[in-house]
Parts: sequence; structure tokens; C-alpha cells
Amino acid sequence: MVGWGYEKENGPAHWHKDCPIANGKNQSPIDLITGEAKYDSGLKPLTAKYTPFSDAKFLNNGHSVQFQPSPGNPSELTGGMLTAKYNFEQFHFHWGGNDAEGSEHRVDGKMYPAELHFVHWNSTCPSFKDAVGSGGPNGLCVLGFFLKVGAENAALKPIIDLLPQVKDPGTSVTVPGKYDMQAILPATLTDYYTYDGSLTTPPLAECVKWIVFKKPLEVSKAQMDAFRSVMNRDGKPMVGNYRPPCPLHERAVKTSFK
Ligand SMILES: [Zn+2]
Repeated sequence: MVGWGYEKENGPAHWHKDCPIANGKNQSPIDLITGEAKYDSGLKPLTAKYTPFSDAKFLNNGHSVQFQPSPGNPSELTGGMLTAKYNFEQFHFHWGGNDAEGSEHRVDGKMYPAELHFVHWNSTCPSFKDAVGSGGPNGLCVLGFFLKVGAENAALKPIIDLLPQVKDPGTSVTVPGKYDMQAILPATLTDYYTYDGSLTTPPLAECVKWIVFKKPLEVSKAQMDAFRSVMNRDGKPMVGNYRPPCPLHERAVKTSFK
């Protein structure tokens, strides 16, 4: 789809015209209702191994800002409910114009100011593209972290400091040195919600094992504001680049915590 965005004239309410799956039964994001999510003692911690990245790119694609490592990096995700090894593809953010909105997933109706998505693809597929196109419900695994305003985030600082250099859509910059993405993560990947869903942007493919962590990461107010100074492809400040929650339909949300 060319021209989709988050403005009134091209926002999520219009996406179904080019992507009929927008009205599908397994769409994301969703509102995570804590009283209805079911604890599953079989949901073990995830294991993510992200080798420090050289020559990674940080870019503004017109609807988000994205960290894109060179292809063939050895980073991988395993554990939890995953039945295969998943390769790391990219991470990106969704955020609001103020702290009352911004995340894609919600918890009992509440939004956080931002959400960080680590995108991985099933290593049994030939490529990321194949994993989206024909990988079925196990094609991708996305780790979602809410961001809240608090202490400065030292692990994200090297990336957030690059935001002024990707202010305009279509721009990119090489991330200097070796970027230690592992440092973004908490020491253990426990306490998460999980369900089967979709990409939250066109093509909205229903190929994602979603894992959304209960505990938010923190960024400082200045760091949060830095995201809001980026411009989108509609020539407006890139804020509110989140899709509203979709109906749960027949799906179940499970938790790894009581
Ligand atoms: Zn996302």
C-alpha cells in the first residue's frame, strides 16, 4: 500500500481498503484485559542473544524510526512457547504526542507513552519476507516493551541521540561503533502476555506470535520528547503512529505470570 499513515485521511480506519485482512479475526494490537488473561505455567522465560551490531542503520521510514542491522547477523530468540529459533530482523517504536497515549497494546484500557517492537522471523523460513508471506501464525515473533517516562535509558541513548539525524522521512544514519542491543533488555525475559496476532502496519499479515512484557522500560522526558521532533511522510510531526486495539474475537491471551 502506498500512502498509508496515521492521519485522518490515511489512518488505520482506511487500511482495510488495500488490506482486507485489517478486518480479520487475528489482528493486532489488542487491549490486554488482565482479568481475562490465563496464567500458563508452561510459559518459560525467553532467551534472546543479540550480538553487538556494527554498521547497523537507524532510519526514518515515514511512519516510524527503525534500527536495522546488516543482514545475516547471528542474533536469535528462543524459549518461551517458541518451537523454533527466530532470527532478529529490526526494532522500531510507536509513540504519542503526549504521555497519555502512544503504545499499541493497552493494559485494561490504559496506554503507555510508547511501545518498542523487536521483530524476529522463524529460522525455518527462507527469509523474513517468506516468514511474513507464507510462514503462517508462527512466521514472526515480536517482543513488545512498553515505555514509560522516568529515568534516562542508557541502553537506548545511542539510538535516541541519533533521532535529530533522521528527522526527515527517508533519511538514515549508520549507528556508530558496536551497538549493544542486549543492554536494552531486562536481565530475564519473564512476566509477559502472549497471543497470536498480526503486523500492526500494512500488510497486517496474521503471522505474529506476540510477546508483550508486563514491566515497562523507562526513558527520560527529554528522550521521549526527542521522538516527537521527528517528521512523518505526511509532512507532520511523527506522533500518534499507533494502531488502535482490534477485537480479540476467539483468541485467548495467556500470561507467564500469576
Ligand atoms: Zn511495531
